[in-house]
Amino acid sequence: MAEKSKDLPDTELLAAAIAARANAYVPYSGYHVGAALRGKNGKIYTGVNVENAAYPEGTCAEAAAIAAMVLDGEREIAEVAVAGPEGAIITPCGGCRQKLREFSRATVAVHSCDPTGCKQTVTIGDLLPHAFSPEHLS
Ligand SMILES: [Zn+2]
Repeated sequence: MAEKSKDLPDTELLAAAIAARANAYVPYSGYHVGAALRGKNGKIYTGVNVENAAYPEGTCAEAAAIAAMVLDGEREIAEVAVAGPEGAIITPCGGCRQKLREFSRATVAVHSCDPTGCKQTVTIGDLLPHAFSPEHLS
């Protein structure tokens, strides 16, 4: 398992989330978000938020990164980074917390970063305690 201590953020993962953020499609909110997931296989998958004219309909950065990971055949997340605007500590929305938990153990680290670096690290379990998870259906 490629899990790391939540005190030691993966700098390559943070950089990927920060870099992805520049490509967010956010003509309505102007709120750029980038996400990067480290799969158990070691690969990094990135995503950005994508809005449309029926705003607030759209896709979150985390959901886009999960879709890229699943497309590649990976099914387990080892670490997560989410990047927002400078000075902000952003965390995944409620729906994305459930989506992340689908592919993550509760102990997986979630780093909130801005363009200057990591601002906060918590776990999926911190963000979605007492989650209804795949283990309930197995
Ligand atoms: Zn979301």
